[in-house]
Amino acid sequence: MSGNTVCQNIRVSGVVQGVGFRPFVWRLAKELGLAGWVRNDSRGVEIEVCGAAAQVQSLIDRLGNDAPPLAKVNTVVTRDAAPAGHTGHDFVIVDSRSGRAATMIAHDTAVCRDCLAEVFEPSSRRWRYAFANCTNCGPRYTISRGLPYDRVRTSLKPFVMCPKCQHEYRQPENRRFHAEANCCPKCGPQLFLLDGEGHPLPDDPIAGALALLQQGKIVAIKGLGGFHLVCDARNAVAVALLRERKQRDEKPFVVMLANAPSAATFVQMGIGEPGLLTLATRPAILIRKRANCDAALPGVAPGLAWLGVMLPYTPLQFLLFHEAAKRPPGMGWIERAQDLALVMTSANPGGEPLVIGNSEALLRLYGIADAFLMHDREIVNRCDDSVARITSGGLQFIRRARGYTPRAIKLPLAGPSVLAVGGWFKNTICVTRGDEAFVSPHIGDLDNAAVCEFLEENVVQMVKMLGVDPAIVAHDLHPDFHSTHFAAECAQRWNVPLLGVQHHHAHAAAILAEHAIQGRTLALALDGVGIGSDGAAWGGELLRVDGERFQRLGSLMPLALPGGDRAAAEPWRMAASALHRLGRGSEIAERFAAQHAAPAVAQMLSGGVNCPPTSSMGRLFDAAAGLLGITQVMAYEGQAAMLLEGLAQRYGDVLPLDMGWEIAGDRLDLLPLLAVLADEKNAERGAAVFHATLIAALGDWLRVLVPGEQVVVGSGGCFLNQVLVRGLRARLSAQGMRIIEARQLPPNDGGLSLGQAWVALQHLARH
Ligand SMILES: [Zn+2]
Ligand SMILES: [Zn+2]
Repeated sequence: MSGNTVCQNIRVSGVVQGVGFRPFVWRLAKELGLAGWVRNDSRGVEIEVCGAAAQVQSLIDRLGNDAPPLAKVNTVVTRDAAPAGHTGHDFVIVDSRSGRAATMIAHDTAVCRDCLAEVFEPSSRRWRYAFANCTNCGPRYTISRGLPYDRVRTSLKPFVMCPKCQHEYRQPENRRFHAEANCCPKCGPQLFLLDGEGHPLPDDPIAGALALLQQGKIVAIKGLGGFHLVCDARNAVAVALLRERKQRDEKPFVVMLANAPSAATFVQMGIGEPGLLTLATRPAILIRKRANCDAALPGVAPGLAWLGVMLPYTPLQFLLFHEAAKRPPGMGWIERAQDLALVMTSANPGGEPLVIGNSEALLRLYGIADAFLMHDREIVNRCDDSVARITSGGLQFIRRARGYTPRAIKLPLAGPSVLAVGGWFKNTICVTRGDEAFVSPHIGDLDNAAVCEFLEENVVQMVKMLGVDPAIVAHDLHPDFHSTHFAAECAQRWNVPLLGVQHHHAHAAAILAEHAIQGRTLALALDGVGIGSDGAAWGGELLRVDGERFQRLGSLMPLALPGGDRAAAEPWRMAASALHRLGRGSEIAERFAAQHAAPAVAQMLSGGVNCPPTSSMGRLFDAAAGLLGITQVMAYEGQAAMLLEGLAQRYGDVLPLDMGWEIAGDRLDLLPLLAVLADEKNAERGAAVFHATLIAALGDWLRVLVPGEQVVVGSGGCFLNQVLVRGLRARLSAQGMRIIEARQLPPNDGGLSLGQAWVALQHLARH
């Protein structure tokens, strides 16, 4: 080597494993004529290069700038290295070194066009192969047992690559160079189709499964992060049967369609939506329905304004559409609208965690699925589909999981590792490392033992994968949540402090964390219920948040919760509570005659027995829905509010009631609005008036309580309501105030763990 030779040791951190980073470095080094090596280790990627100074510098510059599409480079740290006898232009990829983890596995990605082109090319050796993938696409998180990301630590381990696959794996020019999950029909996982009893069916698995779906059967199909229950979305009988068997009476289903043109039949797509549908992370997207949607897809998402649409993301899913299109060769067909519409719902019977194992599926989905389309590639990490939508303010998550887990959310402050265990509904957990927060996939509602166990597994797995020792455990203030009990256990086991974080403080903190906002901030929490620092049920709050502290500036005027928790599931009880406050308690028994508890509830209210107060916004929606006769008993959490939103959207714009609210001290009272709704005969108009008046009232309340403020954080489950949020954005903006919203996590309880973690991290920084 010439005199001007330098040697550098380079460490790259971020998402740099399993994303084609080493081949990228290899090509770069070859191009620049550098010698040395590259390897994965548990901290990321380590490189040693020797060569001309300018060329070495060029390589360092291009590591971040030209990285492969799925990579995310956080830091590049260089130091001088001793010339280790690298000769000529020899640059090699060396074996991984394991150790304490400081990197992270990549997220799962939809199959890329190059791989699909092979799957649909009859002369390709991967023709109709359901597991085609490459360094640019395919599963990562859901097949990984640990770091570094190598085949032996994935569920591809039992499959030994055939000579052809090995050749691809070794060819630096090949897009499967070091693709750890590389496989083909000869050497890789295989599909099989079983009947409802678990007996193999002789048909081609794809053709057989499609035929069953077209006959109105329910097929359990193994996906990336778990099984789906699938049926023909156009077949009302099949959809009703799936609901009956899954005991999911009215909850909306997601529909899988071949492509955006196919979706345009059912939904009105805006400018951003086709792009969202085709994101490589492939979330299900909630899109506004067309008028004919409920008739075309009967029972799929009854009564709601939105349909959840998802495009295929695995070769297996694409093959079902390919089969329905009669196996056309090439890629042309996938650009054209296709008729096949499939309900794709998570296979999580009884609200338990998603089914991932083959024998588990046969057992837990027995009697639900008529057949099973499965394979022998194990799912290591359970991960639900993500659900999102586009709003006028940007992307909004309803559920963040596949495609996003385990991506880090960057925090504005680094500190010791923190574990936060979330709340109760739609639970997630969060573990921090340095200035990065890792939020688990959606875990579920902690109302059964299996979900609670899954929460615990997630904690163990995440702490291990990140290689951290949490220095504090944060939890909700509610003393009875399983998450709270488990937090105490962890804190005791690790001998670290425990920190209770108020629910709505955590909601606001989650948004502050992702937007890297520090300092005193105003926060509006419009939510279901969370326990307050006074022990009462909060949920319609104006807070001043300041790091680990907060102050309650005001709240909704409380309504009584007759029967306590039961009132949260039965809007008629909240309607009764409103009537009582209006001095119309005598109407309760007759008005809700269908509810046998109505006379007892009337008595409870008049005697003030078992009627704890709540300032929850969710319960105010319930009261409105109950008074308008929209729903008396909810089939799922949040249903009354979602139906109310759907009706308001259909009715269109309406003026707020002039005298629909009162501001009493720091309290916002919407009783005058409820009085009008109690006598409203048109539910659609009532729903529209409710939203319009609520928006005007909230605007007025903020104007009176915090005049001159320019920024407010908008958090809590009600921020999923588009009619409310659109209106509030416009109203506050006219008052000179901007709302900061959740973008990387849902505004509902799915984001709680991040907020708890952020409060705990700031707590540690102060103490
Ligand atoms: Zn690919
Ligand atoms: Zn092979």
